[in-house]
Amino acid sequence: MPQNLLILGGTTEASSLAHLISKTEFNATISYAGRVERIRQQPIQKRIGGFGGVAGLASYITSNGITHLVDATHPFAAQMSQNAILACQQTNIPLAALTRPQWQKQKADNWHLVPDIKAAAAALDGDPKRVMLAIGRMHLAQFYNNLQHFYLLRLVDKPEVPPAFPNQLIEVSRGPFTTAQDTLLLSNYEIDLIVAKNAGGKAAYAKIEAARQLEIKVIMIERPVIADRLTFYNPEEVVHWISVSG
Ligand code: NAP
Repeated sequence: MPQNLLILGGTTEASSLAHLISKTEFNATISYAGRVERIRQQPIQKRIGGFGGVAGLASYITSNGITHLVDATHPFAAQMSQNAILACQQTNIPLAALTRPQWQKQKADNWHLVPDIKAAAAALDGDPKRVMLAIGRMHLAQFYNNLQHFYLLRLVDKPEVPPAFPNQLIEVSRGPFTTAQDTLLLSNYEIDLIVAKNAGGKAAYAKIEAARQLEIKVIMIERPVIADRLTFYNPEEVVHWISVSG
């Protein structure tokens, strides 16, 4: 059977793989959850929206003759990654993850590590601060217990219903950002604390470098644990794997 790849996307890694795959003889589809308004143009076919859990993904794999699944979702998209593992087991097709190494704390970094978003929210108890909440838009409500702070929110799209922090500023922009831009942003809004996910990669690292320069503390949310999978860190390795795994 010719190789027919499904890429679970929503990341720069997935886009890089899509571009590389488009130059090969392999058939490939990239899948998006549909969370952002403007989905990037891709040189391969795309589909948008959830599959309907493990059963829905398994059914998609079977009915579309998918031969390989590449989970190139964000490291915090743990539900999708878990579904991918189970659906591949059920349909007996090979799975690989394409991801990025997590950021490592540098000597000059002031990081407070927390295991999840709930713990990050709890770490904000206390006196009012000026916080950059750099966690996307999905879990902002978990911070509603701490309304004493000023929140700078950087979001990919303008929210239809704005978050309900009494003292907030929403910056709508899509990375990648430069360290110079983020240093200016943090200085302009007099930010004294950042809440970030340890996403890894270059696109979102600027704020971490800027925080280091400005000696700003970062509440760093550690990655969710995902079961062991075959894992690659660059798209060329994925293409090689598809070529040799038949
Ligand atoms: P999640 O919690 O792991 O997934 C929740 C549900 O969304 C999944 O069960 C699945 O629905 C659907 N879904 C997720 N990724 C999908 C994909 N690529 N194609 C089709 N359906 C998908 O995911 P999330 O954290 O909300 O992330 C959603 C998307 O945004 C992912 O594609 C991810 O790569 C991207 N993203 C996430 C973050 C983040 O911080 N979490 C940051 C940047 C980009 P069904 O069960 O119905 O199949």
